[in-house]
Amino acid sequence: MPTTRSPGLIYVVEDELAIARLIADTLEKFGFRAELFRTAEAFFHGLRHKAPDLVILDLCLPDMDGMAVLQQMRGKHTCGLLVVTGRGDIYDRVMGLELGADDYVVKPFEPREMIARVRSILRRYPGPVLLPANPDLRVAEFAGWRFEPGSNTLTSPSGQQETLSTAEAQLLSVLLAHPNHILTREQLLGGRDVSALDRSIDLRVSRLRRRFEENPQHAKLIKTVYGAGYLLAATVTWS
Ligand code: CA
Repeated sequence: MPTTRSPGLIYVVEDELAIARLIADTLEKFGFRAELFRTAEAFFHGLRHKAPDLVILDLCLPDMDGMAVLQQMRGKHTCGLLVVTGRGDIYDRVMGLELGADDYVVKPFEPREMIARVRSILRRYPGPVLLPANPDLRVAEFAGWRFEPGSNTLTSPSGQQETLSTAEAQLLSVLLAHPNHILTREQLLGGRDVSALDRSIDLRVSRLRRRFEENPQHAKLIKTVYGAGYLLAATVTWS
């Protein structure tokens, strides 16, 4: 069941084809996956299907004001955001950062500078969360509990064993991979757009909670962080 991390998915929103291609080629050379969008409309359509790890957004698009794109995106998504601006657009850079961009590059930019900024932003976002890549790590111990991802077996502190459903086991594995770290609903669903699915993740969390907590209304192990997501409050040891 443990998997390795897939390369980060990056959406490139840029109407100038030559620049878009340069950005995409550079990203792919450095191991990322790039998807190109030439208009804001196409970009939002793409976002509804799948949330990327990071967006590289040209602020000068043919069909929509860059700041409006930025605001609309930030209202719904928590992925990284690198803004691309023209040489003289100090206003754009400042406004971009004010509106939630993580960083910016100025055209024309060095591909390596862009990669450095992309990597720096991605370090700040845990992104879609995956299991430990090391297949030797087969058992997680936390707060007296034991979980074996290979067989979905959960053992209580008193030694009682239960087999979790695949959905419960996936969710628990994600939480165990990032203990004491707030995970958004998006991250818990593996990076998919959750606008239609956030109820299902809440339901899944409450089912999983019932395995652990005597009183799920006052959950101590899987905490709700209001307006942000969920957090596993425990020290996890993999062996
Ligand atoms: Ca442009």
